[in-house]
This record gives sequence, C-alpha cells and structure tokens, in this order.
Amino acid sequence: MTVVNENTFTTYDTFYIGGEWVQPSTDHTITPIDASTEQPLGRVPEGAEADIDRAVAAARAAFDDPSGWAQWEPRRRAEVMERLAEAIDKRADQFVQRVSAQNGMPVAVAQQLEIGYPSAVLRYYAGLARELSTIETREGLFGGPIDVRRYPVGVVAAIVPWNFPQALSMFKIAPAMATGCTLVIKPSPETVLDAYLLAEAIDEAQVPHGVINIVPAGREVGAYLVAHPGVDKVAFTGSTAAGRSIAEVCGRLLRPVTLELGGKSAAIVLDDAELNLAKIGAGLFGSTLLNNGQTCFLGTRVLAPRNRYNEVVEAFTALAGSLTVGIASDPTTQIGPMATARQRARVESYIAKGRAEGARLTVGGARPKDLDQGWFVEPTVFADVDNGATIAREEIFGPVLSLIPYDGIDDAVRIANDSDFGLGGTVWTADPERGAAVAQRIRTGTIGVNRYIPDPAAPFGGVKASGLGRELGPEGLAGYLQIQTVYR
Ligand code: NAD
Repeated sequence: MTVVNENTFTTYDTFYIGGEWVQPSTDHTITPIDASTEQPLGRVPEGAEADIDRAVAAARAAFDDPSGWAQWEPRRRAEVMERLAEAIDKRADQFVQRVSAQNGMPVAVAQQLEIGYPSAVLRYYAGLARELSTIETREGLFGGPIDVRRYPVGVVAAIVPWNFPQALSMFKIAPAMATGCTLVIKPSPETVLDAYLLAEAIDEAQVPHGVINIVPAGREVGAYLVAHPGVDKVAFTGSTAAGRSIAEVCGRLLRPVTLELGGKSAAIVLDDAELNLAKIGAGLFGSTLLNNGQTCFLGTRVLAPRNRYNEVVEAFTALAGSLTVGIASDPTTQIGPMATARQRARVESYIAKGRAEGARLTVGGARPKDLDQGWFVEPTVFADVDNGATIAREEIFGPVLSLIPYDGIDDAVRIANDSDFGLGGTVWTADPERGAAVAQRIRTGTIGVNRYIPDPAAPFGGVKASGLGRELGPEGLAGYLQIQTVYR
C-alpha cells in the first residue's frame, strides 16, 4: 500500500486483495468530495472487472482451502473477529472524520453509529460464532439417524451504500466471518476512504489472506460482481431500484441474495402521545431526521390524530426549526449536508413537487442562507399531505417530513400500511402496551414504540419493496449458511 496523507488529502494507489496491497488493473481513479466544503478529499483507484476477477479468485481460494478459514473451528474465527474489532476501535477518530467528511454525516452521529456500533456488531457475532452448532442429529420418521449440517454458503459479494458505510458493511462482514464465508466488498464511490481504513484494520488484525477483499467501484462493476461465476451469495444494501435489478440477476442465476432497500416508514402519533420536545425531541429526531434524513428506516410520514393535529404540526415544525444545520465536522451540528450534489438536487426536486401538489410548507424548504458551500438543505416539514402525494409515496432520502392527518386508529393503520415500502416506523404514545398493539398491525420489518434504534441482537430488514431477508441478530446467520441433510 502506498498512502500519502498531505494534511487533508489522502491518496491510496492499491487495492486490498488476497491479504496484499495490489496494483490496480487500470489507471482510473475515484475522487471522494467533502460534502460540507465541496473540496476533494483524496484519490483512490477505481476497480474494474479485472480487479473484481482477482478479488473473487482470492476469496474463492481462501474459501476452498481444504484446511482453511471455512473449515476452522468457529471459536478460532471468533478470535480473529475480536482482533479485527480491536483494530477498528483503534482507528475510531479516523473513521469518524473520514465518514463524516465524505457523506456529510454529523460527527456526533458518526461517533454513535459508524464507530463503536460496527465493532459491537462484530463482537456480538464473534459470540454467536462460539456457540454456533453446525450439526444436529435427529431421529428420522422412517427410522435411522439423520444429520442436518449447516455449512458456510461460500464467497459473498457485499455491496454497500454511502449513508452508513461502516455499519452496513459490518452487517455483512460479521455474519460472514462467523459462519466461515469469505467476502468481496464493493463500497460506494462516495465513501472509499473509510473502506481503506477498514482494509488497514483487516491487515493489522491478521485476518487470513483472501477472507476479506475490498474493491471500490461504481455500479457497472458492482453489477459485474453480482453476476460473477465465482460468487455464491449476494448481500446488498441500497436503493430499491438497484435491488430490483440485482434480484433479477440473482433470480436468473438462482443465487441466494439478501436485499436491504429503501423505506418510507410511518411515525404514528397516538392521541395520548407526549409532545413536549424537551422530553421526546431527541427520540423524534433520531427516528425521523437522523443523518440528514439519509437513513433508510426513518419515519418520514408522520401520522397525526385529527383532534391533536395542530399540536403535532407545531411540535414537528418547532423540532425541524430548532436543529443546528452546519458542517459535518462541527460537534454541535445536528443536520449536515446531503452526501452529493445529485442527492441535494433530488431532495430539492421533491420539495418543489410537495409545493406543486398543494402540501403546506411549515418550515424550511430552501438552502440555508449562511452556508454558501456544501450541499445543504434546510430541515423541511410539509403539513396537510395526502398519503397519495408523491412526497408521501416515494423515498426522498433527505430532511423532509410529510405530516398526514388521520381519524381513529384503524385509519392510522390503513394509511401506514398504504405504502410500497415496509422497513421501519414508530408509534408514539403514553401507553406502551397500546403502542405495541398498534405496532403489530403495521406491515413492516421493524418498528419501535417511543424509540427506534436497530439493535445488533435483533433481526433488521424489510418487507414489500424494502427488501428480502434479515441482517443482525442470530437470524442474520441464516443468510450465510447452507443446509445439507445426511440420512445415515
Ligand atoms: P444505490 O442503490 O444507488 O447504491 C448502493 C450500492 O450499490 C453502491 O455501492 C452502488 O455502486 C451499487 N450499485 C448500484 N446499482 C447496482 C447494480 N445494478 N448492481 C450492483 N451494484 C449496484 O443506493 P445509494 O444511493 O448508495 O444509497 C441510498 C439507498 O440505500 C436508499 O434507497 C436507502 O434507503 C437505501 N438503504 C437501505 C438500507 C437498509 O438497510 N434497508 C440501509 C441504508 C440505505
């Protein structure tokens, strides 16, 4: 590896493949940009098909080694995972700084979710690896013992987005390592510098060669990886559009695939809910506007009971209006910039659509006046939104909330379920039992009562257009295991 770090410009000129720093096959490069300042942050090689071929070959060789990684006792792999968690934690400050510079995530959010959280996921799965039982013998109905054996699925193509690049990579790395799979990770072009830090940690932790290979590249090369004959399983997090196209390819190849896609979840405020922002402001913010609205599980459709509608509009307007908008590296920033100019243009086009379709803007809607660099958008609230409006149907992926009135619980449940998506959501109420009863009526993969945080110990994922399969929790192991039955 050659890494040149001149103040804030970081250059890498190799890929991490097969446990070595190898020369790229072309001279194409990726230049990540600081979302807060629009200045280039560094330069790394851009992966091409030949680089993917080498990475898959390295992952294949590591997996197929008859006495290698996949054959190890799970507790031996757990030791490697724990070493990797330590090597990641050692680089905490650098991870925070690189992630938030590249994608605009406020450092306060990055400190919570892009460091500490990924290593907690890794340690949790190291614990699961130690308990992993790979063979179960049962008595057959027609006599004779039967072994039901679980073995690692093989080489995993892990494709991740830019919004939580480290956490979402770890959702795949941890169960893959626990079960004995090997991986080729393709980070998003927007977030490559943190991927190199991860490669350095993997190198330092002496993860066996070829177990984790990293090739940053764009979508065409990602598509090449998905269809590669050396890949046994695809684990994808990203947009529903890309997920559909990946699912089509995996369908044709009959290749196992996990898809964590977009969302348009409901935050349902019940008529007995506490609306004092001093008490619930942090929870509401975390579940509706976290990471500048660039978070898949956010409840961006806020459903409000008609008899308290004005109060809810006032509370969300005050919440959005009170947030500190600023550069991502400022520890007081609550809302940073959009990750890219394209993403800001997309968010602004939805704000224009909201206005054109007759929703009532109560706060925001423009670029902040005092920030002339960086891809900022003010936190924005639309009231009187119809659930059929474009801003209520489509994922905006920015700090834009749509407030929708409802009449009675059945109506709230109907509106919440009237969505193409089903990923997250929340119910806000003074009565947690009542909240849980409403939560159970929502067709969604995950939902919180008065709080929301994806916990490593519980399965995370979506239904409908939000995806297929689950990550996290013991359930997250299933996507990385195959089953063989041996009748004896
Ligand atoms: P994206 O789909 O554009 O890209 C995601 C990744 O997939 C990138 O690495 C990209 O290069 C790659 N890619 C794109 N098309 C591909 C293809 N056809 N074949 C192979 N690889 C391809 O998404 P994005 O804009 O980077 O991320 C935002 C989206 O991710 C949002 O829709 C968000 O909701 C979703 N997301 C979902 C979850 C979840 O867990 N459900 C978590 C975070 C983000």
